[in-house]
Amino acid sequence: MWRSSSQTKGRYYSTIQVDIPPKPWFTNLTFGKATTSTLIRMRLGHASIPLHLARLNLLPSDICECGNDVGDFNHIFFACPRYDRSAFFSSLLYIKIPFPTSISVLLSNININVYRILAEDERVKTFKYWPYNDNNKCNIRNMAEAGFYSVATGDNDVDAVKCFLCGKELDGWEPEDDPWAEHKSHAAYCAFVQLNKREDDLLLPEYLSIILQYMKNEIRNNQEIATQLIDKKAKEVWRKIHKLRK
Ligand SMILES: [Zn+2]
Ligand SMILES: [Zn+2]
Repeated sequence: MWRSSSQTKGRYYSTIQVDIPPKPWFTNLTFGKATTSTLIRMRLGHASIPLHLARLNLLPSDICECGNDVGDFNHIFFACPRYDRSAFFSSLLYIKIPFPTSISVLLSNININVYRILAEDERVKTFKYWPYNDNNKCNIRNMAEAGFYSVATGDNDVDAVKCFLCGKELDGWEPEDDPWAEHKSHAAYCAFVQLNKREDDLLLPEYLSIILQYMKNEIRNNQEIATQLIDKKAKEVWRKIHKLRK
């Protein structure tokens, strides 16, 4: 046994344990350290929830404050009467998550795109035509940190950007413009502006609230597009009827 193992010393654990991928699930993501560790803690259940706190003997029981059930993530997100989750549920339906579902399903690799759109480093990658350099206040890193990604299509709109959360579009940037200040003055209602924190400084509930807000905004935008399409169709039909009557 030992003789044979010495010959294969140093090989990847994954080659003997095939169920474990050689690289972790977050390899291709460029989240900040805090975000990645938040997601890992949620996936493992190592968080400030009754179930985990009781395991560490910090709470006498793992039952949720509501008294209905064990306080794990699934209870908190899907059943606990202490929270209103209507927006959360409609968001899940919107991104076509089949019910019943659970936190482990939501945090599995299938839904990784939900997180990708929120990542600062992913926004950095969108700035291909940006006219300002690192010495300018509105450099690419500061723009991405303030929630902006580039929507430039070519030479005519090199400095067109959009907020990932509120959708506000801005252009006409000056080198000394402060991205956070501009975001605030043009879209003070933006939930990201109101938190006023870098991605790595967000706490878990804040991070979740941003995910939810993003989903809600997406739903609203799609509803607006749908309403416009229906209006247009209705007008066409009305015109046809009008012609027939003449
Ligand atoms: Zn509860
Ligand atoms: Zn915004």
